[in-house]
Amino acid sequence: MMNQEKNDSIQCSIHNCVHHAENVDYCTLDRIHVGTHELNPTKKECTDCDSFQCKM
Ligand code: SF4
Repeated sequence: MMNQEKNDSIQCSIHNCVHHAENVDYCTLDRIHVGTHELNPTKKECTDCDSFQCKM
C-alpha cells in the first residue's frame, strides 16, 4: 500500500494506517467511510474512520 498517490480531498495524519500516503498527510483511498462507535454522537471524538487498517 506504500507510495500510492494521495487523494487531495482527504487529509489525514494517521501514519499507523496502511492507506496513509506516508510522506504527506493525506489518504490514498478514492473514498473513505466515516462512522461512529456511539449511539448519539455529539463530539468529534465520537467519529471514526471506518476505512482505517492498522499497519501492524
Ligand atoms: S483510511 Fe482513514 S485513517 Fe486511513 S489514511 Fe485514510 S483517512 Fe486516514
